[in-house]
Amino acid sequence: MAENADLDKNEKKNVFVCSKCGFSVPYDYFGRKPPFSKAFVLMEEAYVMKDPFTEERGFITLGSSCSICKSVVCLSQNCSLFYTKRFCVPCVKKNLKEFPAEIIEEMTRKSKE
Ligand SMILES: [Zn+2]
Ligand SMILES: [Zn+2]
Repeated sequence: MAENADLDKNEKKNVFVCSKCGFSVPYDYFGRKPPFSKAFVLMEEAYVMKDPFTEERGFITLGSSCSICKSVVCLSQNCSLFYTKRFCVPCVKKNLKEFPAEIIEEMTRKSKE
């Protein structure tokens, strides 16, 4: 027990794991206003990672959670889609009728690939 408590104090980062493609990377913050980025508010609550190389934002968005099934997905087009909210691809497919024509088209095209 004592050993574990010690470990927690060290750099024990939370890890973002995409439930669709398995992409995983440690993240620094989850939410809409990364504390290390000035005046930048995200469109959605997202998993972000500090990135000193993207100067204008200072972070990279890794992914978010699906607004329907709550599964964690990355921003890859094969895993999720943003249309007013974040949706994972399986949920988009299940609720395709709720989406506008261009999204339905994109999904149909993708499933043929
Ligand atoms: Zn993914
Ligand atoms: Zn979903």
